[in-house]
Amino acid sequence: MNLAVTPAVTPELLLSRIRVVLCRPSHPGNIGAAARAMKTMGLASLVLVAPKQFPDPEADTRATGAVDLLGRAKITSTLSEALHGCGYAMALSARRRDLGPVPETSRSAVGRLLAEAAHGDVALVFGNETVGLSNEEIQLCQAAVSIPTNPDFSSLNLGSAVQVLCYECRMAAYGDLPPLAGQGVTAFSSAAASHDEVEGFFEHLVAVMSHSGFYNPAQPGRLLPKLRRLFGRVRLEKDEVNILRGILSSTQQKTGHGRRED
Ligand code: SAH
Repeated sequence: MNLAVTPAVTPELLLSRIRVVLCRPSHPGNIGAAARAMKTMGLASLVLVAPKQFPDPEADTRATGAVDLLGRAKITSTLSEALHGCGYAMALSARRRDLGPVPETSRSAVGRLLAEAAHGDVALVFGNETVGLSNEEIQLCQAAVSIPTNPDFSSLNLGSAVQVLCYECRMAAYGDLPPLAGQGVTAFSSAAASHDEVEGFFEHLVAVMSHSGFYNPAQPGRLLPKLRRLFGRVRLEKDEVNILRGILSSTQQKTGHGRRED
C-alpha cells in the first residue's frame, strides 16, 4: 500500500461523510434547525425526502448561519433514493418497533457509524414529526437507534434529535476530546514550556532559595519534591516560566546575588 497517497481518515473527513436524511418533514422550521444543528457539529450533507414545504423563509430563519447547508440540500422523493451510494444507514426512532433491526442507544451506536464512515458515506435517518419513520423505511436501514429519554415522554423535537446525534458523532469522531472553539488562540496563552525550560526554572529557584537561606542543601527535607509536585500540577507555559525567572532574577539583583547562568 502506498501510504503517501492514502487520504488520512481525520475526524473532519468522517463527519463530512455522514448524511443527515429527514423523511417527509412537515415543518420547514425543523429543517432549518436541523441544518444549524449539523453545521455546529461539523456535518454538512443534508438530504430531504419529500419535504412538505421547502425552500421556505422559516427554514432560513431557523438555520441562521447555516443557510448554506439548506442551499446545498438534496431533495429526493424516496428514502431509497436518499440512501444512494451509502454503505450504512441508521434509523432514528423514539418508539420500539417489532420489525427492523434490534434498537440500540445513540451513544453506543455512533461508534459503528463512524467505523463505517472510514470506508465511505453513511446516513442518519430521521422520521416525520407526527408519525416518525415507517416500518418500510426502518427496514432500509442496518441499525435502529433511540436516544435514551424519559420513558413517559420519549419523543424529541426533530431538530433536537438531529442535534443530539450530531453531537454524539462529533464526540466519537474526536475520541471524546473535540477542540473547543477558539482553543489555543487566546492572546493570553503561550506554548507549553519544554522540559529543559522547566528544569532551568527549578535550578534558578534552588539557587535563590539557597542564597536566601530558605533552602539548605545539607538538609533538603521534602521542599524540592513538594515544589515539583506544585508546579507539576500546572502545565507551565513558556511565558509563565519567563515571568517566574524574571521574579527570581530581580530578587537576585536586589540582594546582590549574581544571576546564575544556566
Ligand atoms: N411521534 C413520532 C416521533 C416524531 S419526532 C414517533 O412516535 O415516532 C421526529 C423524529 O425525531 C423521529 O422520527 C425520530 O427520527 C427523531 N426522534 C425523536 N425523538 C427520538 C428519540 N427519543 N430517539 C430517537 N429518535 C428520536
